[in-house]
Amino acid sequence: MWIGIDDTDSPEGMCTTYLGAVLARRLEASGIPVHSLRLIRLNPTIIWKTRGNAAIAIGAGGDPDTAFSIAESLIEELADLGCERTNPGLVVCGDRRPPAAFAEEAITGFCTIEGAIDACIEAGARYRGWKNGRGLIGAVAAVAAELDDSTSEYLVYRDVGRRERERVVDRKTLTTAEEMTHPHTWDTVDAANNVVVCVPHTPDPVLFGIRGENPVWVSLARNLIESEDPAIEALFETNQGTDAHLLPGMIGSLEDGRSYIVVGTVSTHPATGIGGHVSVRISDRDLHLTCMAYEPVKGFREIIRALAPGDRIVACGSYRNNTLNLEKCCILDAPPLRIAEAPICPECARKMTSAGTRKGYKCRRCGKREEDPAVRFEERHLVPGWYEVPPSARRHLARPLCRGSPPLPDNVVNLISDQVDWL
Ligand code: ATP
Repeated sequence: MWIGIDDTDSPEGMCTTYLGAVLARRLEASGIPVHSLRLIRLNPTIIWKTRGNAAIAIGAGGDPDTAFSIAESLIEELADLGCERTNPGLVVCGDRRPPAAFAEEAITGFCTIEGAIDACIEAGARYRGWKNGRGLIGAVAAVAAELDDSTSEYLVYRDVGRRERERVVDRKTLTTAEEMTHPHTWDTVDAANNVVVCVPHTPDPVLFGIRGENPVWVSLARNLIESEDPAIEALFETNQGTDAHLLPGMIGSLEDGRSYIVVGTVSTHPATGIGGHVSVRISDRDLHLTCMAYEPVKGFREIIRALAPGDRIVACGSYRNNTLNLEKCCILDAPPLRIAEAPICPECARKMTSAGTRKGYKCRRCGKREEDPAVRFEERHLVPGWYEVPPSARRHLARPLCRGSPPLPDNVVNLISDQVDWL
């Protein structure tokens, strides 16, 4: 059977993954063997999320009714039901799981509570929603998700008695863990920006979490880390770091609240606005899209600032309010800049000046005229290839480049196959 749970936390505390880790222990203690713990991230643009829009699924054997009642009591015990925005959902299904398409929509788009209930009924699943029952969406998506690609996260949780105090995790050992296991693990520390990424600052039970390729690498890294005494630990299989949220998109037909991979040609000079946010427009024929690199993406903004009209790029990110919030991009082509300027007078060797609009150039000393400007080409420092935001600004679902070049959808490959064979 699969047990799915979502929406148990609030900004003041708790975390659905923690509830999942505790539930796995309680099930085992009641003689229900647990064979799988999954952490499924859903659409990152959803407004109802508390933090990272996570839901959990537990694969187990044994009696579904017993599992359901153990999970029910644990939700009542741990969920922050006093918070208006906390609306837990629980689903337990047997051999028949809700359709994978429901999970795909929850990861890339929008689902309804009614849709989640219909999926439960069709799959013959037991389910319960608390308050408005919105958590049923995530709970159903978590049990329905097919993980074609997956990664691991090793989560370590704090003792309840310590939660008011500052987290104690030895920074030197975090750096050692990163050095010894990267690129098989990622987002432990952000060396370039001198930030510890794997230790949260939010009031939840997580002490730290190590993300990586598989259970072996994250366990290895975890064992190198020294910290305050943890309460419990759990290893999750997850869709984090897989780009599962990205859809193939075309400029001009993107839907608000979804995340895309699009191809475009840079059509304006990048501009830095208030707060250090960088914007640049890319186009496909006469359709345009503004891409944003916000201040928290730090050094990634330098790449966007180095773009110039005519460059072709593949852009990845979430589309909201008519802009694409960049997570990573691939520079396909950054041709030398064509710079047209006033020519040098062949008689006097002095720079000519404009003779007026569309009237060419004139030497102010000898009166010689030239129709055309002098053209020179300036080499670019921007090297074609993939670039990404730093670990401190990475979305949970975004696939880090240390996992290799992202697999591209067919429509993107078709659009760029004439241009690159190195992708
Ligand atoms: P938690 O640790 O509790 O899971 P969170 O940051 O993951 O915190 P939630 O508190 O679960 O966020 O809030 C997200 C809510 O949005 C849940 O009720 C979930 O069912 C719902 N939700 C998630 N994805 C979608 C979607 N694609 N369409 C509609 N609702 C969604």
